[in-house]
Amino acid sequence: MAKRDYYEVLGVSKNASKDELKKAYRKLALKFHPDKNPDDKDAEEKFKEAAEAYEVLSNDDKRARYDRYGHAGVGSAASGGGHGFTMEDIFSQFGDIFGGGFGGFGGFGGGGGGQRRQRVHKGETLRVKIKVTLEEVATGVEKKIKVKKHVPCQSCSGMGTRNGSSSGKSTCNTCHGSGQVMRVSNTILGQMQTASTCPTCRGEGTLITDACNACGGEGIVTGEEVVTINLPAGVAEGMQLVAQGKGSAGRRNGVNGDLVVVISEEKHPDFTRDENDLIHDLFLSIPDAILGLQVEIPTLASRAKLKIEPGTPSGKVLRLRGKGLPEVNGYGTGDLLVRVNVFIPKEVSKDERKILEKLAASKNFSPDGKEREQKPDDDDEGGFFRGFKNMF
Ligand SMILES: [Zn+2]
Ligand SMILES: [Zn+2]
Repeated sequence: MAKRDYYEVLGVSKNASKDELKKAYRKLALKFHPDKNPDDKDAEEKFKEAAEAYEVLSNDDKRARYDRYGHAGVGSAASGGGHGFTMEDIFSQFGDIFGGGFGGFGGFGGGGGGQRRQRVHKGETLRVKIKVTLEEVATGVEKKIKVKKHVPCQSCSGMGTRNGSSSGKSTCNTCHGSGQVMRVSNTILGQMQTASTCPTCRGEGTLITDACNACGGEGIVTGEEVVTINLPAGVAEGMQLVAQGKGSAGRRNGVNGDLVVVISEEKHPDFTRDENDLIHDLFLSIPDAILGLQVEIPTLASRAKLKIEPGTPSGKVLRLRGKGLPEVNGYGTGDLLVRVNVFIPKEVSKDERKILEKLAASKNFSPDGKEREQKPDDDDEGGFFRGFKNMF
């Protein structure tokens, strides 16, 4: 399932202000709110889609990355579609957008009952470096990487209690299982009730009374997992992709952290990269640069024939359209730039020297277009003095 453009999801223009974004999201969130659309899967999807779009566009950093790299710049590199959000995420992150006046929408499950509001632990976000070649950048690539991370404890199935039994924990007495404590304060608007995380159970609502030996009650242990990452074509050095939920497991069956993948580009023997263009240095002999010829040059996919016109100077850049790297957001492809370098030999033989001296005297070879008096043979002393006198 291809993701829709975030601006399109919110129905705003690319240069929408923060205020416009917020208004647009609020409108959609209220329209597709689960309390208004019970058991409507489509509305729920739309609700999540809008939350995801708002989460990215309301954050300057993420918005900049999205504008530059598209969906690949802001996440879901590994998930390949779908939304990384749970309903609980949405309400914990954006609860404030529903503001006052929408009392019932303050938290998830306000009307339905039975939904947990207790806090779950989020696992660590991990960072890994992935090396890519330019060939892989050109096509996109699937990488399998071994990641050292916290994984759920097998002995207790992540529960944290001995053998994972539910009798190994008890309801927290401070919050009576709600995970929150309420405080009432008097304000000019009247009495306000505010909820805060229970300090005793840190929001879990329960306390471990009989801990698992293997994990000490944490529900997680150190382990590793092979993670498959689908890198889109066009990624570049230093770019960060977020594989949602591929980081460390959260304590006691909490939610997984994310895995941030940092792209590291390997040097290529034939090309250097300039954004989406590739630069190839072509070396020509002096005669070839003057007379022209057909050459074969490498491309990332194979090889290409290139005609060198007679009289091609050093430094000339020849452009092969579309033979560069694809744009990461899927729009367009860069070019292959062939930079001509005329090879100048360091040593010449006696015969070559004679030919070159002859050429040097020709007006075609003179930058100012004037014929020069030809130097006589090499070790002719008279010649040397003649040349010397000419200097004065
Ligand atoms: Zn508590
Ligand atoms: Zn355990």
